[in-house]
Amino acid sequence: MRTALVNGRIMAGSGLLSGQTLLLSGARIEALVDPKDERCAGAVTVDLEGQLLLPGFIDVQVNGGGGVLFNDDPSPDSIRAIGAAHRRFGTTGFLPTLISDDLDTIGRAIAAVQSALGAEVPGVLGIHIEGPFLNWARRGVHDSKHLRPLDTSLVALLSGLKAGRTVLTLAPEMTTPEVIAQLTAAGILVSAGHSEASFAETTAAIAQGLRGFTHLFNAMARLEPRDPGIVGAALYDQDTWCGIIVDGHHVDPVMLKLALRCKRHSRFMLVTDAMPAVGSPEPTFVLQGRTIRVVDGICRDENGTLAGTALDMAGAVRNAVSLLGLDIVEAARMASEYPAEFLGLGHELGRIAPGYRANLVLMDHEFNVQKTWIEGLAD
Ligand SMILES: [Zn+2]
Repeated sequence: MRTALVNGRIMAGSGLLSGQTLLLSGARIEALVDPKDERCAGAVTVDLEGQLLLPGFIDVQVNGGGGVLFNDDPSPDSIRAIGAAHRRFGTTGFLPTLISDDLDTIGRAIAAVQSALGAEVPGVLGIHIEGPFLNWARRGVHDSKHLRPLDTSLVALLSGLKAGRTVLTLAPEMTTPEVIAQLTAAGILVSAGHSEASFAETTAAIAQGLRGFTHLFNAMARLEPRDPGIVGAALYDQDTWCGIIVDGHHVDPVMLKLALRCKRHSRFMLVTDAMPAVGSPEPTFVLQGRTIRVVDGICRDENGTLAGTALDMAGAVRNAVSLLGLDIVEAARMASEYPAEFLGLGHELGRIAPGYRANLVLMDHEFNVQKTWIEGLAD
């Protein structure tokens, strides 16, 4: 079936195009054409009414949504519910994210994602395993009883997902460069986080394949004059990606603007680090036995520790415009093209171009989501 999306401002190439029609054929983008193109004649036509058509957002860090926490019930049904909750905010690709838990739960979470991929649950692209190989001193809300070092014996378990992508967040000081090399060789995208790794430790990890940094600045040792540490390494290295939480609370926008001056914008990606509160009316949720309260859009435990976010991707994009001073095209790239490249999916996701998967989001002039498509199917 062919669909013609007409009368939109379409993000393609280096900017926004008007007066063009986007043709979808099945699950793929077919072409961007003149409205008089003969292929439009038999197509189902959708009038975009002058609104913005952007590549669908890709969120590599999603703990929950719609009242569901992935850790509580790592199942295909949970993944489906989380994906549906975030889709309302423009997310058309995501990694359900398991925070530090026991090895049995990690195994079940990988099996759940495998099943979800097999069942073609909309939007699921793989799994993000965040911990438990984290530094106790930077654990944030991760339960300290699960934290442990990582040795070679666990590489097989962690690389068990046979389709989709696996991102693993670890603290480099909780393992060795050799294990990072083995994880990378097994296809895992290793990201550093919840860490006090030194500059040298982090640089050694990068040399062995470390690909990114999880929520840059948060749960990391500080940048110090005589100790650049993990943040210094993240900003100094030009090739690794940095996930950033742009909610106005986790990181001062000035710090993020400084980070953007250190390396290419294409090495930053907006993440939500979302908790069950996104897409749910409930003001509280339970995280591994602790009650988390959402006040003014901020999730905290009873000690005041930040516990993920109530941020959605549309909000992250709006904040990237309002707080970081980016234009909508660059903000949208940080939510689509750049995370797609981080995941090694940049050849088929994250852009509006012929042959790409038809994952799209339609936003109004205030950047609120009006409609989404996943694999050519509208919501
Ligand atoms: Zn975290």
